Amino acid sequence: MSIAHNLKTVLDRISFAASHAGREPSSVRLVVVTKTVDIDRIREAVAAGGLLLGENRVQEAKEKIEKLGSIASWHLIGRLQTNKAKYAVKLFDLIHSVDNIELARELDKQAAKTGKVQDVLIEVSIAGEAAKAGVALSAAADLVREAAKLKNIRIKGLMTMPPYSDEPEASRPYFRKLSELRDRLEQESIPNVSLKELSMGMSGDYEVAIAEGATLVRVGTAIFGERH
Ligand SMILES: *Cc1c(COP(=O)(O)O)cnc(C)c1O
Repeated sequence: MSIAHNLKTVLDRISFAASHAGREPSSVRLVVVTKTVDIDRIREAVAAGGLLLGENRVQEAKEKIEKLGSIASWHLIGRLQTNKAKYAVKLFDLIHSVDNIELARELDKQAAKTGKVQDVLIEVSIAGEAAKAGVALSAAADLVREAAKLKNIRIKGLMTMPPYSDEPEASRPYFRKLSELRDRLEQESIPNVSLKELSMGMSGDYEVAIAEGATLVRVGTAIFGERH
């Protein structure tokens, strides 16, 4: 199937899942995940209506953005090393993967230098797998409160990636915990923090994520096919 066809199918399924959950379809946005995808296929996806593009490596994104320019809004969804914060601030409208205070401080510093306020999400590791990206659930609230003090970054919400499973329903408890964390933090009304965005759900489980409140779903394989 063509990229345009696949993209339309995903957008239709997003709308359906949102309506089914009693939500406005426009409250869920698709991040088209373009990691490992070549320039021509990215162009096709944008032409077919992809508005947000997600990359997981700074260097790969930089090369693509230099070629494609601002044809869409670029998001960083993968792990960010502190020493690459400088580039990330130049390249991305939203960074989904802030999971420690040193990184938040460096992004703040680099954003200040360029006169930008960098939008970020706090990535939470609900399962608490040590090797995986994301701040532990138990430490997430403290990270949000600390990072909220930085004036050149703005926290827009939370992100998570459940452990891999073939079964979409296996992700539901993780999505629900992220949503509950968001609700708890919202009650604190922390200044400089808006927790509107929940970035959760990938090709295998985005409909479950939407049922649990996702506002950004990150989908690659269902649009471009398997990565090699
Ligand atoms: C690759 C990736 C995705 C997309 O995964 P698919 O299963 O191909 O849809 C989503 N989020 C992150 C963080 C990724 O690295």
